[in-house]
Amino acid sequence: MQNLTILGSTGSIGVNTLDVVRRHRQSYRIVALCAHRQVERLFEQCIEFQPRYAVLGDRALAAALAARLAAASCPTEVASGPEALLRMAELPEVDVVMAAIVGAAGLPPTLAAAVAGKKILLANKEALVMAGAVFMRAVHQNGATLLPIDSEHNAIFQSLPSDYSGNLSESGVLGLFLTASGGPFRTMALADLDSVSPEQACAHPNWVMGQKISVDSATMMNKGLEIIEAHWLFNVPADKIEVVIHPESVVHSLVQYADGSVIAELGNPDMRTPIAHALAYPRRIAAGVEPLDLFQVASLHFERPDLERFPCLALAYRALSEGGCASTTLNAANEVAVQAFLEGRIAFTTIHLVIAAAMDQLPATKVLDSLADVLAADRMAREAAEQFIIAKAC
Ligand code: NAD
Ligand code: MG
Repeated sequence: MQNLTILGSTGSIGVNTLDVVRRHRQSYRIVALCAHRQVERLFEQCIEFQPRYAVLGDRALAAALAARLAAASCPTEVASGPEALLRMAELPEVDVVMAAIVGAAGLPPTLAAAVAGKKILLANKEALVMAGAVFMRAVHQNGATLLPIDSEHNAIFQSLPSDYSGNLSESGVLGLFLTASGGPFRTMALADLDSVSPEQACAHPNWVMGQKISVDSATMMNKGLEIIEAHWLFNVPADKIEVVIHPESVVHSLVQYADGSVIAELGNPDMRTPIAHALAYPRRIAAGVEPLDLFQVASLHFERPDLERFPCLALAYRALSEGGCASTTLNAANEVAVQAFLEGRIAFTTIHLVIAAAMDQLPATKVLDSLADVLAADRMAREAAEQFIIAKAC
């Protein structure tokens, strides 16, 4: 029996995780469910899974959840605030932490899970992008296990040799291909991108996801963040990570070997596959995913990304080559820009300008050696991005 904390249980990844757990109640027990503001969904999850703890990031809403649970005679204890999230990630009785909070808010509890030496199922790519060196050091020093949930990284993990130790050439690996769907605007006329709405940006052709990652997929910043994520997870330099647009989202990523072999993981686009893979690793369990029907898929397409259409991809490569705090700046400015776009304050095509402006303004040379350093760099980048947006509106 493995005991789980789910950070971000009410989101798209959280709900999919609970769906896999529901199929294997004899093997996984939910100890803590954590969310931000979705009282109703968290209440329902508590009734079904009877966790020991439920946490809401928003303190005001926690009292409402506690009252509803008490009225339903559910014994789950309710806590709130960022420090409660940290506690849930470190609980001694917890073996596995699903890190599925979206954005920078997920970093402190995910890092706490690493320091506590947990098995971490990492969906929250922003944590690794903003704090790569600090996070990986915590994982290694504390004997934590890091398993990727992002479908591309999970595919690469499955396609690398099982004894891969972070040295590409020793394993006979030439490089990685990260596949990308190209999002909803892959073929739209460039001139029309200025006026796309948040609803259009969130309507992903193949995956159903939270709002932030959906907009990131439309700008392809999601792939940019994933390049940086792959760099840290697999210790691979940027020039060995190539992005290939693959509109069907059936090949989830590939590893190219020196002998000419290319090994890939294929499947229907359903996040329950990587979640079940990481939960049970190294075993295999049913995920509730339909088997891939190759005859229905029939053909697969691959194309090179157009950097004029997707300038965020170039910004991610720039962040990796600058090093220092550049990826932290990129991630924070992107979060601010995506939020401003969702609120109708900036155009879709301004998102990359906000990020570039923050990166131009803040020197990348700053070395980030602790969580406090990372959070300070994150704050400065948010301010720079916000100022650019305000100045642009005037
Ligand atoms: P989502 O918006 O659907 O859910 C986010 C979750 O985080 C919710 O449960 C929300 O309550 C919680 N949350 C947000 N802010 C919080 C805060 N301050 N304190 C506590 N909880 C907070 O997002 P999602 O699509 O599930 O994505 C989650 C993470 O997984 C993201 O980092 C995303 O990039 C990554 N990811 C998602 C997918 C996918 O298919 N959805 C695929 C790959 C990676
Ligand atoms: Mg992905």
